[in-house]
Amino acid sequence: MSREDYEVVMGLEIHAELSTKTKIFCSCPTDFGGEPNTHCCPVCMAMPGALPVLNEKVVEYAVKAGLAMNCEIAENCKNDRKNYFYPDLPKSYQISQFDKPLCNHGYVEIDTKDGKKKIRILRIHIEEDAGKLNHDEYGRGSFVDLNRAGVPLIEIVSEPDIRGPEEADAYFKKIKSILEYIEVSDCKMQEGSLRADVNVSVRKKGDPKLGTRTEMKNMNSFRAIQNAVNYEAQRQIEVIESGGKVEQETLRWDELQGKTFSMRDKEDAQDYRYFPEPDLGMIHISKEYIENVKKTLPELPESRKKRYIEEYKLPEYDANILTSSKYFSNLFEGAVEKCGSAKAVSNWIMSDITGYLNENEIEPEKIPFTAENLAELITLIDKGTISSSIAKKVLPEMFEGEEKSPREIIEKNGWVQISDEGAIKEVVAKVLEANPQSIIDYKAGKDRALGFLVGQAMKETKGKANPGMLNKMFLEELNK
Ligand code: ADP
Ligand code: ZN
Ligand code: MG
Repeated sequence: MSREDYEVVMGLEIHAELSTKTKIFCSCPTDFGGEPNTHCCPVCMAMPGALPVLNEKVVEYAVKAGLAMNCEIAENCKNDRKNYFYPDLPKSYQISQFDKPLCNHGYVEIDTKDGKKKIRILRIHIEEDAGKLNHDEYGRGSFVDLNRAGVPLIEIVSEPDIRGPEEADAYFKKIKSILEYIEVSDCKMQEGSLRADVNVSVRKKGDPKLGTRTEMKNMNSFRAIQNAVNYEAQRQIEVIESGGKVEQETLRWDELQGKTFSMRDKEDAQDYRYFPEPDLGMIHISKEYIENVKKTLPELPESRKKRYIEEYKLPEYDANILTSSKYFSNLFEGAVEKCGSAKAVSNWIMSDITGYLNENEIEPEKIPFTAENLAELITLIDKGTISSSIAKKVLPEMFEGEEKSPREIIEKNGWVQISDEGAIKEVVAKVLEANPQSIIDYKAGKDRALGFLVGQAMKETKGKANPGMLNKMFLEELNK
């Protein structure tokens, strides 16, 4: 049997750091980085006797995420201690939620090659992040930095509804995009604000029973997940095909070697000796509170997509890409409001801007210019101030230069389109004089000669001549 005879089954546990100003159980700042152990107090350093106080913003943000992901919000929930030997969490337990999480039974929709699909969410709970171990490069040991200890997290646990790495990618990206839209997490994967534990199993197609899963912890790159899942699924299939049994265990993905390694046997819930956190009370959430949070939800990607198709008459494909990121979507809407041309804005984002981002491996959130800047660029083309080929030179300047205003950029570089009749006439005369053969060709019925002449004139003016005017004037001269 081969890979095609198997189905890859996956479930993701996504951790997102919440962008509250302060930590979950104390008032230390949540800012990333900083000198080691400077964002700490007795509570997040786990001094005996220091008492946690729940940050209300954490509950609000988690409820917001729950609502955006179609979850039921629990009327009552609580915090529990998850006991473990964490070298980077000196309490030796993490305050999390065990049997009564804040949000239950939601779903998000993803696009697959067979159409839309719902991935169910089992639960979303709140918990604290651990500190960090910095391994000394000179081998003197490991240093503990507790700046991150106590930063609030939500953990979003999916049902094992995901089939294979493409769906996992679509699901993870959808969760990221929703969290960005509702502004509860900055989702900076390279800083670890968003990371996933990836559970993978395989089974023969048609088998109703799930296979034994392995888990790869703390993955924070889309590409690494793709590679890891492909490798791990193949490994499991080979184990089964050779008559063996897949062990339930925690694995580490080594991106450089392109392999998974066993870290430890998978622990069960009972190993953590969960019990209710005695220093914190029950969390009661009223219907009214939920309604108030609901009012703060912005328009979500699915609804925006529908609106783009109906209101702006964009193809579904375009609407999909434009709403895939809050940063695209806001850029699009902001620019359309200013310049009025949805199709032009969409084209710029879908082709040149996306192209630039991909080529330079930049995330949409890092686009350094505003919707007004983009609208101005489009307006300048519309008005004939610049040609679209010049506009293509302006865009990289908007990404890289100090100056973000297209008008300033073209003035600074002398890129204003030549639309002066006298100047155009001069160029046309010069080009005609230099290319007598083209005139003969044109008169002999070779229309291509016109294109050649316009091209020469463009070259002559470094792309600045108004192409419409050039065309018209060449025709006039040639048909004399
Ligand atoms: P934990 O890993 O913390 O013990 P769970 O047992 O709740 O937690 O499962 C975690 C994740 O594993 C969930 O996202 C779930 O969808 C996924 N999962 C469970 N069983 C399987 C399976 N057989 N194959 C793939 N994923 C699975
Ligand atoms: Zn603190
Ligand atoms: Mg797990």
